[in-house]
Amino acid sequence: MDPLSLLAQTPHRRYNLLLGEWVLVSPQRNQRPWQGKVESVTSNQSPSYDPDCYLCPGNQRARGVRNPAYTSTFVFDNDFAALLPAAPPVSIDQDNLLIAESERGICRVLCFSPQHNLSLGQMKKPAVVSVVDAWAQQYAELGALDWVNHVQIFENRGLLMGASNPHPHCQIWANATIPNLPQREERHQQEFLQRHGHCLLCNYLELERKEKVRVVLENANFVALVPFWAVWPFETLVLSTRHCATLPDLAPQERHDLAGILIRLTHLYDHVFGVPFPYSMGFHQQSTDGREHPGSHFHAHFLPPLLRSATVRKFMVGYELLAAPQRDVTPESAAEILRNALSAS
Ligand SMILES: [Zn+2]
Ligand SMILES: [Zn+2]
Ligand SMILES: [Zn+2]
Repeated sequence: MDPLSLLAQTPHRRYNLLLGEWVLVSPQRNQRPWQGKVESVTSNQSPSYDPDCYLCPGNQRARGVRNPAYTSTFVFDNDFAALLPAAPPVSIDQDNLLIAESERGICRVLCFSPQHNLSLGQMKKPAVVSVVDAWAQQYAELGALDWVNHVQIFENRGLLMGASNPHPHCQIWANATIPNLPQREERHQQEFLQRHGHCLLCNYLELERKEKVRVVLENANFVALVPFWAVWPFETLVLSTRHCATLPDLAPQERHDLAGILIRLTHLYDHVFGVPFPYSMGFHQQSTDGREHPGSHFHAHFLPPLLRSATVRKFMVGYELLAAPQRDVTPESAAEILRNALSAS
């Protein structure tokens, strides 16, 4: 038996190359055969326009500003921003024990569509290409500010992920400092390049396309796969097949293909349990600190919490909070379930 098949029956740990940490996999706890769609919750019946939604065109937001009658994407500064551009410089370091510093930033909201009841997976491809263009534009615009060193684009979808409004939208937080996870990923990619002379994610993608077992979807310019070191049950990584570092680097055909794979992937997710699949997703792009980051490879993470059904989610508790992340279903099985989601439903 090959080592991976043996591991598929044995508690083991896998190394997350991007974060430089281990995830515990316990496949023996998951010997029950997969039963496909376990339950079905009636789909979102909300109207295409909601007079009470602060993101719908023409509506008034919390602080009295009225949205324009937008017809495509729409960006505005978050009315309740977590970061402020004018935060004054303050720092403390008391006895090497109490360390803090003020942080400048800009928080924006980007509406994907004027239509209240759509999701990425339900939108037409040209509309999603417009979203990709808007993401690229925001990264370029915010990243060009001399004090902005990282731009994080992310979407929380569904009540389970804390999304307060079903209107399709994402957030963009631009920071003066590089946040924990992108900083670790960028460092590990850079170290891999120095040690091996190749881009980590280019090499990884080449291996995955050869092995196929963890690949969920692909088109000419993008691949969606369950990473070997995935923590969340149906976590996926979306990788550009060409080495590039940012959304603005993408050529028109690549933007088209990114829109295409995002539509297909979110559509697939919705078929796993027959419900709008909750997730947090976001892009990791090169830091905008003015330095060269030749190891950074553009990618998106999808981190959905559902485990066995529309109502049974994975919790990060106990061992995970105190020791290390752990999963039961193997990434290889998760990829197979995702690949088959459309035909099984
Ligand atoms: Zn709305
Ligand atoms: Zn690369
Ligand atoms: Zn990443």
